[in-house]
Amino acid sequence: MKKPVFLKLERDRKYLIGARGIVDVRTGQVEENVCLAVEGGRIRWMGPADSELEFYLPYYLTPGFVDCHVHLGLGLDGEKDGLRVVERGERVPVEVRKRLKTCLHHGVVLIRDGGDKYGVALRARTAVADRMVEGPETVSTGFALCKMGGYGSFLGRPVSGVKEIEDALEQLADLKVGQVKVIISGIVSFRNFGEVGKIQFTSEELEFLVEAARVRGLKVMAHASGREAVMLAVRAGVHSVEHGYFVEEDTLEEMAERGTAWVPTVIPVFAALQRADESSGTVVKNVVEKTYRKQLETIRRAAALGVKMGIGTDAGAVGVGHGEAFRREMALYHEAGLTPRQIWEMATLGGAEVVGAEQDYGTLTPGKVAAFLGFRENPIWKPPHLLQPDLVAYPV
Ligand SMILES: [Zn+2]
Repeated sequence: MKKPVFLKLERDRKYLIGARGIVDVRTGQVEENVCLAVEGGRIRWMGPADSELEFYLPYYLTPGFVDCHVHLGLGLDGEKDGLRVVERGERVPVEVRKRLKTCLHHGVVLIRDGGDKYGVALRARTAVADRMVEGPETVSTGFALCKMGGYGSFLGRPVSGVKEIEDALEQLADLKVGQVKVIISGIVSFRNFGEVGKIQFTSEELEFLVEAARVRGLKVMAHASGREAVMLAVRAGVHSVEHGYFVEEDTLEEMAERGTAWVPTVIPVFAALQRADESSGTVVKNVVEKTYRKQLETIRRAAALGVKMGIGTDAGAVGVGHGEAFRREMALYHEAGLTPRQIWEMATLGGAEVVGAEQDYGTLTPGKVAAFLGFRENPIWKPPHLLQPDLVAYPV
């Protein structure tokens, strides 16, 4: 892929930037010949272009992409790599720096990390915020909450009962995480269609967790697949449902009503198709195909019902690369029947809302972070996966 031009906006400088146009992802409308005043890494003012411009960008500007679900600390170099990183005292491993940079190449300026056991993503979050490392701003969940002997121990720590949940939340709050991640169910089977790992939390535990997070100002990101698990998550009041395979119509309606967000992560399942042949039966091709097609159908239904959605790749999972998977995920939403404008909105403002950063990202508006993309042609009516940003701007 061709590299975009990087425009690094220094936080201690002021800029007056002219642009060919600015795209409103909500309406699809374009304001032509606009001037942006940027200071402290944020857009301070917008208006018609005048003659005192510092430079002119011959591009249509859009907000940067938001990947709502990644794992910076997974699949680094074998299972134990996160631990090795911690033992070596490495602040941010080279591989993670590369991942962050790759996100920017692909126009991803904000990510939410779904957790790792060793705090790799937390370190990356802090290093980016402290400007030690270049990368998208990272909302980290630190370590995920799971159950002893259940699914997800490689993402976090097992907790049982309200006392342990309370203690874990206290620790997460001390670590200044951006959200809390909980693993409510196992994963979708690639061998038997419709089968999902079992439910690991009770409704009492989940309600307690959501409330304990809320009093600490934290939203809850819940890994849940299967009809029952998603319903449990929604009823407990989680902020976003991750994966959500086999969620049914009645739950989607409830999500639309309550404003529960959904991050469908199709690409990790789609990517499994490629390894079906060499997996000696653990991945069955037609099961994987049926599963992802079912998910695409559900995405179309959810969009029609008005469920709030964000795009998440689960990058770090097997076969899912940071940054590049974002475009592949968007392609699948197009295949699902969503319009380019719907996908654009999900990829930017929708994602910013899911991540809880809509005050800083998602639109090009005074007050928000100056992280944006530039395209030579007006991109809003084209499916975004067919485009490559010609310019990526972000504060440094
Ligand atoms: Zn994940």
